[in-house]
Amino acid sequence: MLGGTGEARRLAVALRPGPRVVTSLAGRVARPVLPPGEVRVGGFGGAAGLAAYLTAERVDVVVDATHPFAARMSGNAAEAAATTGVPLLVLRRPGWTERPGDRWHRVPDLPAAAGAVAGADRVFLTTGRRGLPAFAHLTRPWFLVRSVDPPESPVPPRMATLLDRGPFTVAGETALLRDHAIEVVVTKDSGGEMTAAKLTAARDLGLRVVMVDRPPLPPGAVAVPTVEAALAHLTRATPGPRRSCTCGS
Ligand code: NAP
Repeated sequence: MLGGTGEARRLAVALRPGPRVVTSLAGRVARPVLPPGEVRVGGFGGAAGLAAYLTAERVDVVVDATHPFAARMSGNAAEAAATTGVPLLVLRRPGWTERPGDRWHRVPDLPAAAGAVAGADRVFLTTGRRGLPAFAHLTRPWFLVRSVDPPESPVPPRMATLLDRGPFTVAGETALLRDHAIEVVVTKDSGGEMTAAKLTAARDLGLRVVMVDRPPLPPGAVAVPTVEAALAHLTRATPGPRRSCTCGS
């Protein structure tokens, strides 16, 4: 299981007791929330390294349950699965959809998001600390940056950092946006409930949202949108005792 998401953790829970599950984390977060079962940390050394790992560990199925923006890892997983013949299932939560009252501006990537807020004064930036270099050249906006771990240079010259991780509430996000007089929110289209409250808060306050589109899935990927669907797929693919899912909790 290529992890780093809440879905990966919930699927690891739902698969117990059952097959041996090893969750792989990149090691980017200093104190990650760990799934049950075995965990390994660190890169594999590209698609070839992952292919070697799959063969050495005699892996039957790979689940790519990485974040929708972990495009390099997903590409490597697809390549390694193709070269080794190990079946690959992608667990990818759906993106967010605009609702009445939203003022979204979709952009293809972080540089385009930076262009969209260059003339703004006060920006809430939730695209993760590793995306900050894309905004580092902007001298006009003041940024409120929220990330799990502290950002490293290069960062925008005018910013404050808020270290926090979801889930967040609408009341909390509304207060945050109000207290900092935010006028525009920048987010990746990560989808899911954990961090969606900022979108409701922005809608309620009439704020603009710059929404960074997801990178595409690798061509030909077999993808499911929920932990329940992944569990059903894996149960079909690897016959054994039926398992029930309390995945939504
Ligand atoms: P990425 O750019 O797609 O991957 C860069 C490299 O990091 C990969 O080539 C791989 O190194 C290593 N890597 C990534 N995910 C890994 C995993 N689960 N296990 C082992 N190695 C991994 O990935 P990223 O965007 O930096 O994301 C890193 C991790 O953070 C992922 O687990 C992802 O689910 C999680 N995450 C990402 C975001 C986001 O916005 N990107 C948000 C929340 C959580 P090698 O080539 O050496 O194998």
